[in-house]
Amino acid sequence: MAFLERVKSVFGKGSQTELEGELRSIHSLFAFLGDIVVEKDLISPLLKDEKKIDGLHGLERDLVSVRTFFLFEDFIVENKPLIVKRVYSKEELREDIVKNIDIKSLPLACELLFLDEVEQSLYFYEIFLQHFFHAVDSHAGRKKAEQILGRDSSNAGIIIEHDELDYDEFNSRVKQNDRKELSAIISIFKNLYTAFYLEILDSEGEKNAKALASEVFRIVSDHYNYKIISKFLDVMPPGILESERLAFISHGELEETVNQRTQDVLKEKEKVDLIVQERTKELEDEKNKLSIVTENMFEGAKLLDSNMHLIFINRKCREILGLSNEENNEEVIEEAFGRKFENYAVEESFGKSDRGAPFVVPEIDVDGKIYKLSFITLLDEKGARANFLVWIEDITEVKQLDRRKSEFISVAAHQLRTPLSGLKWTLGMIASGDLGPLSPDQKAFLEKSYDSNERMIALVNDLLNANRLESQKFQYNFATADIQELFDSVLFDMHHEAMRRDITISLEPVAEKLPPVYVDVEKIRQVCQNLLENSIKYTMKGGFIKIHLSKEGEFVLISITDNGIGIPKDQYGSIFTRFFRGTNASKLETDGTGLGLFVVKNLIEKHGGKVWFESEVDRGTVFYFTLPIAK
Ligand code: ADP
Repeated sequence: MAFLERVKSVFGKGSQTELEGELRSIHSLFAFLGDIVVEKDLISPLLKDEKKIDGLHGLERDLVSVRTFFLFEDFIVENKPLIVKRVYSKEELREDIVKNIDIKSLPLACELLFLDEVEQSLYFYEIFLQHFFHAVDSHAGRKKAEQILGRDSSNAGIIIEHDELDYDEFNSRVKQNDRKELSAIISIFKNLYTAFYLEILDSEGEKNAKALASEVFRIVSDHYNYKIISKFLDVMPPGILESERLAFISHGELEETVNQRTQDVLKEKEKVDLIVQERTKELEDEKNKLSIVTENMFEGAKLLDSNMHLIFINRKCREILGLSNEENNEEVIEEAFGRKFENYAVEESFGKSDRGAPFVVPEIDVDGKIYKLSFITLLDEKGARANFLVWIEDITEVKQLDRRKSEFISVAAHQLRTPLSGLKWTLGMIASGDLGPLSPDQKAFLEKSYDSNERMIALVNDLLNANRLESQKFQYNFATADIQELFDSVLFDMHHEAMRRDITISLEPVAEKLPPVYVDVEKIRQVCQNLLENSIKYTMKGGFIKIHLSKEGEFVLISITDNGIGIPKDQYGSIFTRFFRGTNASKLETDGTGLGLFVVKNLIEKHGGKVWFESEVDRGTVFYFTLPIAK
């Protein structure tokens, strides 16, 4: 098709079939471009433009499609790394499109895009010249136009045919001369435009010439984007359209900057997106690890925020509360908790927990199971209450074993105590001569047997006491008591044994009278006895024991100091555990159950007091304990 006809078909109104054909080719081109661009989000704004094309006709549609293709082209070149299927340069893209799509079936406006820059510019310069020619033709008449063209352009090979300029010859000359440099083409056209303009200036005067030039500029700027307008301004003779040029440059620059900025922002966004994706994945991984642990734990966990609202609940906790695995409704969960552990309202229980010291309910029997409940207040770095954790352990099995063991010990100890008591009376009677006189040897042996039996009875009593302590069957009778008096009477009882071992015990005088304590006197008597017995037992002949009483805030502090064998450092952690006996202690004193201190600790803690010690091997030991002052 001759160039003129092609231009007509683009800028004139095409027939319905022509339009449909053009639309089809535009669509196939977009499909192709869409296919190589994988980033859907990025191309969708461009595809919106493509949709717009559907509703347009003729020139307008072509211009929109030209604009869209420019955008597309820029987009592909600038977003190379995002185009996953293939990486294109502008030239490669053109080549590929020309190879894959019948370029001749595209409307001119689109076709232009796939020409190289020189050819593309050539087309535009020719189209602009066409406008110039029409303007002269309609204002100054055909004659004038012919004159102008005839003088200079005929040399270049441009002729008028059917009211249009025909560039066929001109084009082939350009190609023949291999004038493919853009600067060379620009200079040809600059000369042509200048000749045209000078001619009009001569015959029409400056005002009209400028008006004509402005009219052509308006047509061009109405229809084309700034890239094409700048092509037009490149070939216009200098001096005319100066103000348009200035306005255009600032507009073009602005557009360029906006485009550049948009690209920068897109790239930044892309980077940020990538970082966000990575972080999200890391977090997801962490969360997965954590949820594997929490979901498979044997303990129930319920985590609340600082306003006591549910953040998290694990599978075991739901199971204990009798809820389905999917239950996440805070109210339902709260209700189930209230039903199960009715005496332990969550908020109130957390009120009883302190920083670092959870509120623990050691044993709750519900629905045939035994649970241990801990209300733990978690603090943030600043030490403020940040979260609340309810920790539920099912200790049914352990407790049942424990109870069975306690029952066994209790039965066994009671069974032992009866025959031992029988033996005590029989041995006592024989030894005291009630059943006939004894030789001194017989008497001595019998007394030894009597003592051994007494120790056995004491041991069985210790066992029973410890057992009762654990099974919480101990009754406490709290009352106010004078701790000094209590010590006086305990010392009176111990006096004999201390003398026997040549150990001096002294109760150090107090500065002022101590306030009464609030205790179960019998239990505290046992505590003092156990501690003093130990001091006597584990101190060598000639040693000393000092007792010191003082008031410390709400408590009375008691210390018992001896200069005995001391406790080896590696055994500090075991001293208060049941049946534990120190290595040095068991060598020195074979008798002993390792129950004394276990009982002491339990009893003191039941009173709200504390017990601890300081010791050095071969130098001595100090045991301290506190008891609450009566209010
Ligand atoms: P037992 O005295 O029957 O061994 P206890 O529970 O009373 O059991 O004491 C546990 C252990 O603590 C003792 O075996 C001993 O090693 C150590 N101990 C207790 N009191 C003293 C003390 N005053 N001096 C040194 N060691 C002590």
